[in-house]
Amino acid sequence: MGRFAQDRQVFFFEEQIPTDHHLAYLEIHPFEGTTVKSVRPRIPHWWSEAERETALGKLLDELLALNDAIRPILWFYTPVMYSFARHVDASAIVYDCMDELANFKFAPPRLKETEAALIARADVVFTGGHSLYEVKAHLHDNIHPFPSSVDVSHFRTARDESVEPSDQKAIPGLKLGYYGVIDERLDLVLLAAVAKARPNLSFIFIGPVVKIAPEDLPKAANIHYLGQKHYSELPAYLSGWDAALMPFALNEATKFISPTKTPEYLAAGRPVVSTRVTDVVRHYGDLEGVFLADEPESFAAACDEALALKKAGDAWLTPVDEMLSGSSWDQTFSAMSVLVEEAVTRRLSPVKSPRKSRPHGSGKTNPSNYDYLIVGAGFAGSVLAERLASDGGKRVLVCDRRPHIAGNAYDVQNEDGILIHQYGPHIFHTNSEDVFNYLSRFTAWRPYEHRVLADVDGLRLPVPINVTTLNGLYGLDLHNEAEAARFLAGRAEPCDPIVTSKDVVVSQVGSDLYRTFFEGYTRKQWGLDPSQLDKSVTARVPTRTNADDRYFLDNFQAMPLHGYTKMFENMLDHDNITVMTSTEYADIRRDYQVGHTIFTGPIDEYFDYRFGRLPYRSLKFQHETHDTRRLLPVGVVNYPSESVPYTRITEYKHLTGQIHPKTSISYEFACADGDPYYPIPRPENQALYKQYEALAREHSDVTFVGRLGTYKYYNMDQVVGQALATYRRMTKADAGDVVTARAQ
Ligand code: FAD
Ligand code: UDP
Repeated sequence: MGRFAQDRQVFFFEEQIPTDHHLAYLEIHPFEGTTVKSVRPRIPHWWSEAERETALGKLLDELLALNDAIRPILWFYTPVMYSFARHVDASAIVYDCMDELANFKFAPPRLKETEAALIARADVVFTGGHSLYEVKAHLHDNIHPFPSSVDVSHFRTARDESVEPSDQKAIPGLKLGYYGVIDERLDLVLLAAVAKARPNLSFIFIGPVVKIAPEDLPKAANIHYLGQKHYSELPAYLSGWDAALMPFALNEATKFISPTKTPEYLAAGRPVVSTRVTDVVRHYGDLEGVFLADEPESFAAACDEALALKKAGDAWLTPVDEMLSGSSWDQTFSAMSVLVEEAVTRRLSPVKSPRKSRPHGSGKTNPSNYDYLIVGAGFAGSVLAERLASDGGKRVLVCDRRPHIAGNAYDVQNEDGILIHQYGPHIFHTNSEDVFNYLSRFTAWRPYEHRVLADVDGLRLPVPINVTTLNGLYGLDLHNEAEAARFLAGRAEPCDPIVTSKDVVVSQVGSDLYRTFFEGYTRKQWGLDPSQLDKSVTARVPTRTNADDRYFLDNFQAMPLHGYTKMFENMLDHDNITVMTSTEYADIRRDYQVGHTIFTGPIDEYFDYRFGRLPYRSLKFQHETHDTRRLLPVGVVNYPSESVPYTRITEYKHLTGQIHPKTSISYEFACADGDPYYPIPRPENQALYKQYEALAREHSDVTFVGRLGTYKYYNMDQVVGQALATYRRMTKADAGDVVTARAQ
């Protein structure tokens, strides 16, 4: 076992406090041969809760003083102890959540509240399994599942152990065993029935009986309770078993368990017969040596199969051993240790001041120095600047009217040091390997798969609509794709031809789902009814019949590891590139007689709105920071109802992966006036754009690129692809240094 965070003292808190003594004192037991001590506070049982808390707090202070503990790490296995430890100046607080304790029999009444307080203070949270992780994941920004590890070499000895302990050896016949706490988590009815159905088999139970009266345990000639045994004795007992058992009841107390005994039994070379506990099915269900059954008859049959497998040889152990090789305590320790170390570093290092966007621009540029003037430092402008400078060897001046680079993808640390997207959530996704590889020259990535929930009168349901959405909305129990497809087919209202955004949705899912998820959202977002918008708008959001709840299915889904702005800084960091932010094109166009202009702003603006204005939809953002680690279960929650003024709320830390005690969100309100964000896909707008496009063709000194320059509802990757293609075309045409203007 290693040490945590440069030998800081770690205080682990587990179990509840026994209130069975007349004095308050600490009972200290050193563990032989280790620096670990077990400490048990003893307090009188007649004290009030307040008196207990005060006394326990004092005892803890004494303990810390006794150990010269300066800013120790506090590591909680139970929230119960947090209430009297919260005053301690810790260098990190770890909540190692092993179970949903609130679901247990006789759980303390305020457990949920105390757990919420502990989670709010914890720097890092571990869960003892994946199911537990799934129910807790939305509560913390630094939470990690650690399913059971196993001391393989300890349990492996059971494979060749021949000295079976005498109390077990005396038991006749084939033996199936269980060890662990015997409490309400075991299915005693199942156990009694299986024992009755198989009188020739012996069922052995090792472990303390807790919270249930011994007389309530099933009794039969072939059921044997051997009591609690020491960890060191377990392999010897296991060596005498022909199969191992996990007859857990499937109830609230077992919903989130991830039994450590599963890998231990397997390491001992015993086939396992278990009920369908979620995490057992998930992690071990595919192994030949694991048999799953919930009913007495099938469980008994599973026992027979397990015994037959054991008899048949050891071939089934090869995949078992492969799996176990990845689950050692050493591996768990190293992974946890890194996270704890990071937590200590974060807590002890002073809060970083917000990273300011590097100022760009000065009056010192020489107007005759540039081959190209690029208007706009967003994706379109920056990619072209980079290509022209580094590949083409051209001198490039980039101007942007905004005080920063990166266009709409701009991200910045706010006053609390949280990285936010100033212009709403930008999630990078693409199927183009070329685009991904190109951008990878300027950034490392953080894998991120975007998930969105729609808030329908308080119900949070996945968008795009999938089988979970249907089950949640209509209280259904559709199990598979075929059932979901049949359900949707029964509601779909076919229409031909499909022209508008309303047609797309109604023809797939029918009017009710259309109204619930699309009508209001689209009206708010676009200021138009879906029947007035091109089909391409809502077609961006597919309908699924499976349970995949990812917003995008692209091959590459990731966020720039240090943010978009940093990636743009790297892209534009070239001797041949000068960037002038806070600079209007109109203010400098006459000063710079460059050979060619690349315009990534609105094309109608460039031509002084000669044919009239192209309509764009704008947005207003309300950014807020809250003093909590997590507000939303996923990165974005949509509000499709017209009675809610905003369209969606984004919590940025989901996207960026940042760990911070606070969290920042933004509300999006769509509006007609303001910065142009969205071209509005409608036939009449397209016709107007075509006029501008034709005009652009007559101007050989300018090229239009990007979402505004080519009036296309493009994602970032599409703009990058478009800019790269534009560059390729320019270099071809550039053979004699003549560039042909061409709108896309
Ligand atoms: P822009 O980023 O708009 O850059 C154009 C720049 O030109 C601007 O900075 C502007 O200030 C400047 N400019 C314009 N006119 C002038 C002028 N006359 N003088 C000087 N400067 C000028 N895409 C995705 O792939 N995934 C997403 O999750 C995603 N989410 C989005 C969310 C929102 C709220 C919005 C609005 C867009 C989103 N997008 C997303 C789309 C993405 O923002 C665009 O595809 C991309 O930013 C377009 O890049 P661009 O260079 O064409 O335009
Ligand atoms: N849309 C909707 N309800 C939703 C999500 C999307 O009606 O819950 C419609 C809406 O018209 C939206 C369009 O689908 O503008 C495209 O959604 P997307 O998430 O692609 O929009 P963007 O990220 O570009 O704002």
